[in-house]
Amino acid sequence: MDKVYNMNTPFCGQHPENQAIYIKASLDSNQIFKCQECILEDTYNKDYLSIKTISKCQDEYIFMNWPPLEDLGILSEIRGAFQYRSDLIKGIEQAFDGLIKEIVDALEQKKKAAMQTVINESVKWDEILKVYNDTAEKKKLKQIIKIEKQNMECKLDDLRCFISEKIQQKQQNTKILQQQLDKIKEYQILQMVDMNLFKHSIVRQLEEFNPLTNKRKNSYEQIDEVKKQLNFLIGNKLNHVRPSFIQQFNNLFDKVSYAFLELQIDDIFTSKPLNYMILIEDEALYIQKIAQQMIKDKENMNIVSQIYEKAMNCNYDQSNLIQVVENIYENIIQIQKDNEDVYGGIYFKYELTKNKKYVVRFRFNDQAGDCFIIGLVSKSSTTYDLNKTHQGKLFCNDNIHYCGNVIQGDLFYEIQKDQVIEMRVDIQAQQIQFLDYPNYQKVNQLNEEYKLNSEETYYIALHFGINEKYKTRIDLIYFQEIDYS
Ligand SMILES: [Zn+2]
Repeated sequence: MDKVYNMNTPFCGQHPENQAIYIKASLDSNQIFKCQECILEDTYNKDYLSIKTISKCQDEYIFMNWPPLEDLGILSEIRGAFQYRSDLIKGIEQAFDGLIKEIVDALEQKKKAAMQTVINESVKWDEILKVYNDTAEKKKLKQIIKIEKQNMECKLDDLRCFISEKIQQKQQNTKILQQQLDKIKEYQILQMVDMNLFKHSIVRQLEEFNPLTNKRKNSYEQIDEVKKQLNFLIGNKLNHVRPSFIQQFNNLFDKVSYAFLELQIDDIFTSKPLNYMILIEDEALYIQKIAQQMIKDKENMNIVSQIYEKAMNCNYDQSNLIQVVENIYENIIQIQKDNEDVYGGIYFKYELTKNKKYVVRFRFNDQAGDCFIIGLVSKSSTTYDLNKTHQGKLFCNDNIHYCGNVIQGDLFYEIQKDQVIEMRVDIQAQQIQFLDYPNYQKVNQLNEEYKLNSEETYYIALHFGINEKYKTRIDLIYFQEIDYS
């Protein structure tokens, strides 16, 4: 007997002989327990809840009339939502099962067809086999080697005879079999394609393929509309597009049309035609700018590397303690005075002459100390002592005997971190100028009495003073040669 209908189950209040099957959820009468007959008599029985259902229902079961709500329609919508989900899962399963079966079937067919193609070619293989067997005479050979005691002598003679016969036919049989082999080689043009390529293309498509799409996204009708409009645009006679290309476009479009499901296509087309002339002009201008920049870059060729490995220490004081580090990755040369007590000079044994002009830029890394000089020393000098020749600019000190001739702006001598100065060398004009880079608002040059000798060859040089103790690093970041024109 069903558990629900045991003796503990209450009886109907209206029909005491019947066990209750329902409870009435609205409390609008005195009787809560209702039986089968009640449901026939009660004109309003929409609030009946089956006792059996209540006791047996699972977590995911949604009653159509419980709990009491102002709008029971909500419950049927909730039910619908669950139904939607389970339908979707079922749909995915069925669709994939079908797809998998079709793909497997199609692959099987391809496999069979490919194998059949090879088998059909076998007629030619059968031919060679026949010719081989004719020349080898395997059957006869089998017959002869059936040697028994009583016929041994005779059989051995036969065998000897047969082998010698075949040896005599050696040349002829070689020719026959070679001909057959040549024939068959003509047919060995089939080979397997790289299955991995095919596999990868399928795998890639699978990865891109999403079987689920958002309902709110584009429909295939919308995508078809896009295709039509694109066709119209591409096919515009002004474009001179071949029909075969449009055909190719459409084939490809169909292949990937599912991708358009997720594309924002509501406003793919602008309200007015693009002005292609402006686009083209923009592009031309852009290319022109790039070309100009390239020419400029070429003119501004930084050739710091030209003076790599040319650093020499001056032969006075503690010059040999000044460090020169070439940083090829940053294309710079670092001149380091690592020791507070060090003073002296270094120069780069790279010849500067009147045939060219030179631009050199230095970057500072701190405020340095009391004084240092950047300038040129002449090749014929014996000491390379910039301090004595005055053919450079003094920094950190307002002494006007080292490039104290102010051409523009003020005399500048103080330095700070990241500041860059430019040195312009024109031996033909006997001048060295120092400028603030990149603004070029200040120009200081050699004093009249210390001008260069235009027939002399010079080297770039730095000199560190003695008085105040300091450490510093100066970077030579740029070197350029300009032909005299
Ligand atoms: Zn009843």
